[in-house]
Amino acid sequence: AETVGFIGLGNMGGPMALNLARKGGYEVIAFDVNKDSLKKYAKEGLAVCEDVSVLARKANKFVTMLPNSSHVSSVLEGENGLFQKSAKNSLFIDSSTISYHSAIKIYENAKKINQRYVDAPVSGGVGAATAGTLTFMVGAESKELFQECKNLLQHMGKNIANCEKPGAGSIAKICNNMALGIEMIAVAEAISLGKKLGIDPKVLSSIMNTASGRCWSSEVYNPCPGVMENVPASKGYEGGFACELMLKDLGLAADAAKQAAADVPLGNHAKEIYQKLVELGLNRKDFAIVYDVLLNNKLKQ
Ligand code: NAD
Repeated sequence: AETVGFIGLGNMGGPMALNLARKGGYEVIAFDVNKDSLKKYAKEGLAVCEDVSVLARKANKFVTMLPNSSHVSSVLEGENGLFQKSAKNSLFIDSSTISYHSAIKIYENAKKINQRYVDAPVSGGVGAATAGTLTFMVGAESKELFQECKNLLQHMGKNIANCEKPGAGSIAKICNNMALGIEMIAVAEAISLGKKLGIDPKVLSSIMNTASGRCWSSEVYNPCPGVMENVPASKGYEGGFACELMLKDLGLAADAAKQAAADVPLGNHAKEIYQKLVELGLNRKDFAIVYDVLLNNKLKQ
């Protein structure tokens, strides 16, 4: 079997790496700076290593799933980075959400030293990462390269979208997540208002899900505890998509909007709200916790 190095076993990367190994039949060797994550996934049967240079010797395809641009850059670029240490013409698929400027810069740096870097961020959350049904937004420079990426990514995702040029996957992702941030707050606002007016969140959610207020945040990832099973809202807002990562994405969208002179008033407002959640100490809680914050009027504090 072909060997793939997988870097970043967080909420998303862990289940993605397992799917690649189990469904894709790849020999996956995984690395994370967090030793507890390594232990957890070793128990699940993944081959793990504590030294990233081991990956460089054994693999020539890599997937990174890291918090932000600086982590991706430190793992791939620089003197001890994988670009230098691994065989030339290796393939690096980065599924982290980073700025499109960073993605283009890393792509250009890779090209200069005969490495291949593709931005391929994902959408769908931990549920889709676990089920292997993620959407990938792939910024590959050619059809051939897109196909090569798809052959690997299809074991972790259902929709593999060709965004046709380097950086374009990252553009698609930040636009999607700006909508997601706004929509999550919208659903949380509506259902918390309903609850205060005396309508049960379960009843209101089921109405919205067959009416015009429906969206992913109401139907698949409902923010109210007890409305759905197996979502972070029903598990104390643990796991899932951290508020600090949503804030990062809204910041990427705001920066991109400034550069493009695009008006994004609700995106900017959503960013301020997630900024407040992080200040309230909710940085590692799932972003659906905005429901609890609104219900208890904590934004005003
Ligand atoms: P996470 O914070 O749960 O996991 C990140 C992992 O990277 C951690 O295990 C951390 O220890 C590891 N890490 C950090 N620096 C490292 C380094 N130098 N070398 C090796 N490992 C390192 O984050 P996540 O929720 O899994 O998200 C990962 C990326 O995917 C982010 O860019 C996020 O915005 C994006 N994303 C997340 C979701 C979601 O629902 N959680 C959905 C789509 C996209």
